[in-house]
Amino acid sequence: MTIKYSVIVPLFNEEEVINETYNRLTTVMQQTHESYELVFVNDGSRDRTVEIVKKLCNSDEHLRLINFSRNFGHQIAISAGMDYAQGQAIVVIDADLQDPPEVILEMISEWKQGYDVVYGRRLVRKGETLFKKASASFFYRLLRSMTSVDIPVDTGDFRLIDRKVCDVLKGLKEKNRFVRGLVSWAGFRQKSVEYVREERWAGETKYPLKKMIRFAIDAITSFSYKPLKLASYIGMTLSLFSFVYLIVVLYQKVFTNSTIAGWSSTLAVNLLFNGIILMILGVMGEYIGRVYDESKDRPLYIISETKGYAREHALVGSHNR
Ligand code: UDP
Ligand code: MG
Repeated sequence: MTIKYSVIVPLFNEEEVINETYNRLTTVMQQTHESYELVFVNDGSRDRTVEIVKKLCNSDEHLRLINFSRNFGHQIAISAGMDYAQGQAIVVIDADLQDPPEVILEMISEWKQGYDVVYGRRLVRKGETLFKKASASFFYRLLRSMTSVDIPVDTGDFRLIDRKVCDVLKGLKEKNRFVRGLVSWAGFRQKSVEYVREERWAGETKYPLKKMIRFAIDAITSFSYKPLKLASYIGMTLSLFSFVYLIVVLYQKVFTNSTIAGWSSTLAVNLLFNGIILMILGVMGEYIGRVYDESKDRPLYIISETKGYAREHALVGSHNR
């Protein structure tokens, strides 16, 4: 039997929301009157998430579980879901019901109109801290200004993609994955649907500041060389200034008597340059680290078990994509 829709849900310590999410998604997907599957990817949760999903699996043949051997990260969980999804249209949605499942129906109707990518655009973000909203807004705009790929602002991973887009994404081998950027990069006919981002239904955000920063750096470095260029621009500008300063120093030495060399100015220049050199090295390190990651060619994720699949699909272990 061919499956029409796959809904991918990444899960990391979501025991408090999982039942509600399952119920809401099931209600919505049943309204389509077409075949569907729910692909729950457990990203190394340390709470009861897996147990709850397993229990749900026993009573519902629509449900699949992909259980990672540890926490690999949100973007990788989504990628695994895409590797396993069997549907003709694939939807990615967060587990916490911030993205209302009902919007999926709108996405499906756009897909039926012939769009290959239908992404959700957040009009309002409810119940998130001012800091989160401001940093997210800044991040999307910064990213946009830095890359030539047309990545829409204020959109998350809540989107529907056609089978052919999913196949393109499956073929992309990169390890540092910024999925929504990759979807934009792939092109195809894209359309947005607008929605209000709700509060998290229960539990706390699984994206603390540290993960958010990692995510932002991954996004920017995967899609832009501008930071590297910035490093060389800063370098060039500063060498120009220092050259001018060198002339001033030489002039003073040769033509004036005021050569009581200032200790503080020497130190200041030194500190400034050292700081900038370290910063530039750091930027380069980010990129070199990524080259290293890619060259190791480790699998993107490791699966410890799956549930809800016929035996031929139930691959366990690591996957070289
Ligand atoms: N998530 C995940 N792995 C992680 C962190 C988060 O699979 O390491 C999942 C999480 O369970 C949720 C989605 O990614 O389904 C988005 O996370 P969250 O809602 O905490 O992020 P926020 O909405 O606060 O940005
Ligand atoms: Mg959330």
